[in-house]
Amino acid sequence: MDKKVRVRFAPSPTGGLHIGGVRTALYNYLIAKKNNGTMILRIEDTDQTRYVEGAEEYIKEALAWVGIQLDESPWQGGKFAPYRQSERKDLYKKYALKLIEEGNAYYAFDTEDEWDSKRKELEAAGVVSPQYNSITRMQMKNSLTLTAAEVKAKLAAGEPYTIRLKVPHKEDIRVHDLIRGWVVFHSSLLDDRVLLKSDGMPTYHLANVVDDYLMQISHVIRGEEWLPSAPVHVLLYKMLGWENEMPQFLHLPLIMNPDGNGKLSKRYADQLGFPVFPIEWHNKEKQATMTGYREAGYFPETMVNFLVLLGWNAGTEQEIFSMQELIDSFSIERIGKSGTKFDINKAKWFNQHYLKATSNPTLARLLLADLAKNNRTLSQEKAEKVVEILKERVTFVKDFLTEGKYLFDAPQTFDEQIASKKWNQPLVEVLNGYKNALQTHQESLEAHTAKEILNKTTDSLGVKFGSVMQGVRLAITGAGAGADLMEIIAFLGADEVSKRIDYAVSTLKVVS
Ligand code: GLU
Repeated sequence: MDKKVRVRFAPSPTGGLHIGGVRTALYNYLIAKKNNGTMILRIEDTDQTRYVEGAEEYIKEALAWVGIQLDESPWQGGKFAPYRQSERKDLYKKYALKLIEEGNAYYAFDTEDEWDSKRKELEAAGVVSPQYNSITRMQMKNSLTLTAAEVKAKLAAGEPYTIRLKVPHKEDIRVHDLIRGWVVFHSSLLDDRVLLKSDGMPTYHLANVVDDYLMQISHVIRGEEWLPSAPVHVLLYKMLGWENEMPQFLHLPLIMNPDGNGKLSKRYADQLGFPVFPIEWHNKEKQATMTGYREAGYFPETMVNFLVLLGWNAGTEQEIFSMQELIDSFSIERIGKSGTKFDINKAKWFNQHYLKATSNPTLARLLLADLAKNNRTLSQEKAEKVVEILKERVTFVKDFLTEGKYLFDAPQTFDEQIASKKWNQPLVEVLNGYKNALQTHQESLEAHTAKEILNKTTDSLGVKFGSVMQGVRLAITGAGAGADLMEIIAFLGADEVSKRIDYAVSTLKVVS
């Protein structure tokens, strides 16, 4: 790459950042880091009507959580500050005026009602979805149809106006995209986009292009949904005389619903019970809190690894990547064109991997934090033991509490099906014998000792060890399956195990 790599993630603070937005930010970040470039965050808040309070802080927190570090942003500043478009408001108009001067844009004085009635008129005449474009503009009230004196008078009288882009009548607009190659749009399909609104604010198109130019952006990396805007942007670069400075475009493939039908939607995600937000999002307007991946127990490493593969692959069998490995191996050439299906099971698989890769003392601390939320405590040593016993069986830290609930609480109920098959007289005798034998091990009990004692008990009663194992498990945990039983017994200790045996024996009915 010849030009210094400067990329930007440019979210609009209109709500919680969707998980797809995090992927866009991640791809920007990886391309920046891989090329010793600069990662910029610009807040695109020109549409004040869609501004949602708290969205900006949310974006900041979500990106920090996944480990995307910014080099320039509204929060840390930078050489091209300000990075919030509302704070750059006064900068855009001169470009709109330059476009007018050079015949590439025009003042439009029509009110919304006027355009509305023109639209209806056109519809009645058989025009499908009429647009304010290179044909209809000649029937409207603008600086192309009014005389110079009329325009001057209107401006002097302070009449509200917008500035519209004068899209060429019949022209192919060629957009070069690094992922898709050349994409050609015919200008007759574009309307004369508003560039400057009547409140003096620029629209997305004008502000976006002006800022990308002024901030010396080398690559515009964004979701595929912005591809239809690209010809407008290419036109603007040309008309503003910035063609040589035009950034490279990369429109990332869509993230699809799990069944491959359409773009990943919140409705679909809700139905299947997975979040669409990286971190919890509180929608004040709807008084609703939407859970995030962070709150659902996913690690940031999981998110990075999972999201990066939604549209990119290394071309090898490797699936597990740390952020640094991604920075080293990421390549634009391996970004796909077609949409990728969202598969939450894959995310769970990654989480399992990262959980196993986390040290037991760290997991124990996370478990203790979860326990504290339920007003419970455990020693760090005991918590590490819980982790050791269950690590292979859980996907999330919160699973330690559910998967291993018998490590924290004695069972109140027992799996009926197992009980009806296994709870027989020989088992009860083994349990009572085991309980007595454990008396001498009240101080401490190791898994192998717990097993030896149980072995001796079954031997002395002439019962097969294997035939009572599940029953013993049922008495102690309430369930027919789970983690290594001898580890569980050692963890609970002789006293607690004896109590549980007593309770089970007094509760369950013996089957013959
Ligand atoms: N503000 C746009 C958004 O909300 C940015 C699109 C772009 O990157 O050009 O996604």
